[in-house]
Amino acid sequence: MTFGYFGAFKMRTFRCPNCDKVIDTSMTACRHCSTPIDRNAAEAAADLQEKVNQAGFDASIVKQLGIWMPVSLLVAFLPIIGIVGLLGQVVLFFAVPVFFIRWWIKYSGIQTRDPDFKSAKRATMIGLLIWLPFGGFSFISSVARFMTAR
Ligand SMILES: [Zn+2]
Repeated sequence: MTFGYFGAFKMRTFRCPNCDKVIDTSMTACRHCSTPIDRNAAEAAADLQEKVNQAGFDASIVKQLGIWMPVSLLVAFLPIIGIVGLLGQVVLFFAVPVFFIRWWIKYSGIQTRDPDFKSAKRATMIGLLIWLPFGGFSFISSVARFMTAR
């Protein structure tokens, strides 16, 4: 249970257990299907909803980082700002799998039918899949550079 600045009057949203539409914790019955809402169940559902929202936000970060991997590879070929691309490659090479694994450790236990959670899962996969070939390429090219340098 969270109490914001407005104490118990703070409204939070969650999905109705019966019709799945988004309602808020101030209601005693669902606005859409009139199912009576238990206060404790509503608070628990609102906690879950906040977790799902956070999962969606964190998943979009994984996806964005994944997309930046090929961008940084391209930038690395440019004159002057190429160093930014190289730096980005190194950072993203580690950041994408770390954020991906962190997401799955933190959120994979969530039990919900929320379609937003499904698309959050998909977003982390897309991030990893975009990262994978470019991360692999930059790894192999670094190894090759290291081998030919000696
Ligand atoms: Zn309902």
